[in-house]
Amino acid sequence: MFIAWFAISVVHFGVPLFYFFGMRRNAYRKNYGLNPVRDFATEPTVTVVVPTYNEEGVIRRKLEDIARSDYPASKLEVIVVDGGSTDKTAEEAWRYFKASGIRGTVLEQSQRLGKSTDLNKGLKHATGELVCFSDAECEWDRDALRNCVKYFVDPQIGSVSGVHFEKGSRKALSQEVEGSYRSIYRMLRIAESKVHSTPVAEGELQLFRTSQMPGFDTTIGGDDTCAALCMVEKGFRSISAADVAFYEPTPPRLSVRFRQKVRRGQHVIQAFWKHRKLLVKRDSSFTRLIFPMEFFLYILNPLLFPFWLATTAVLAALSFQFALFIGVVALAIVLTPLSRVAITHITNNLTMLTALVREARGDKQLVWNKIEENRKDERAPEVPPVQTV
Ligand code: GDP
Ligand code: MN
Repeated sequence: MFIAWFAISVVHFGVPLFYFFGMRRNAYRKNYGLNPVRDFATEPTVTVVVPTYNEEGVIRRKLEDIARSDYPASKLEVIVVDGGSTDKTAEEAWRYFKASGIRGTVLEQSQRLGKSTDLNKGLKHATGELVCFSDAECEWDRDALRNCVKYFVDPQIGSVSGVHFEKGSRKALSQEVEGSYRSIYRMLRIAESKVHSTPVAEGELQLFRTSQMPGFDTTIGGDDTCAALCMVEKGFRSISAADVAFYEPTPPRLSVRFRQKVRRGQHVIQAFWKHRKLLVKRDSSFTRLIFPMEFFLYILNPLLFPFWLATTAVLAALSFQFALFIGVVALAIVLTPLSRVAITHITNNLTMLTALVREARGDKQLVWNKIEENRKDERAPEVPPVQTV
């Protein structure tokens, strides 16, 4: 029993820790290893596609935010794809385009068919050399788009996403937890990108070459992650760029954050599963190391969590020495900065376990109710917080 417990512990905690610290030490401070061959002296034209469903409260701010970007307006085109909103999202967007200097259009769908279907509609109408997808309630740094574009000097780069910062000051516990989760995963996404690619991308900001973009799979969620993996499958690199910051609010209530995380987790599972063939390809550091590790972290390791808890409980009930040992270790973790990592670990595992169960039940969550609390926040800060790991 003790041996089983020990083995599970080593795999469940040891492997992720080894991976996180290994990536931080060996990859995080490297450069991206770009191989620039194309002359990008002139800025390419960019089409920004914003999917919306009942976003009348934030769509104007979103369009203003894009216009605020330091990318030349003459090179920008914006397409709002509205999926049959029942509020005034489309009118608001039209009004903004008419009054502002930004070239934009609204593709109004008569009914809600889901985000991926509508992103494909936007893609079909995109005239820019590059196409950028961005959710309605997030905001960018002024230089985010310009920084993002520059990675395409390397023809190997197929998808560029940004890094996530939370909006507003952290007040609630859910925001503390999200903050610690993000600081760890920001590091990991960047480190993986510097080695080759990161499998998880963010719909808040993701850029492709329009001609290379095959479109989104409308039968699964996780449009962003799935597209990033598609690009890797086609032989490109999909990266998160350290100098491309976007801001998204975190729901202040833990239960609401949990609901959002479960849905996003499910979407990651769907995208990973679709691309599971990459696990046996073994033709790059991505297929040999990064994807198998992420597959383990997102899908396999959460399944070990209940076994670890059960064996720990049984052993603690059987042996006072063991119970004492676990108690001391737990106390040591709570009293040190490791508590941040521990909370992240526990919430991640609970989220992914729930996501796996929901997925097994067959509810894919391709259409969902948006999170209202995330549409009430103040503007993001002008200056990004210093990136800490
Ligand atoms: P979350 O950030 O994961 O909680 O997802 P959101 O609810 O914020 O959705 C991401 C983006 O997709 C937002 O801009 C939504 O308005 C948009 N969206 C969600 N569902 C649909 C849909 O069915 N059609 C369209 N066109 N957009 C959608
Ligand atoms: Mn969102």
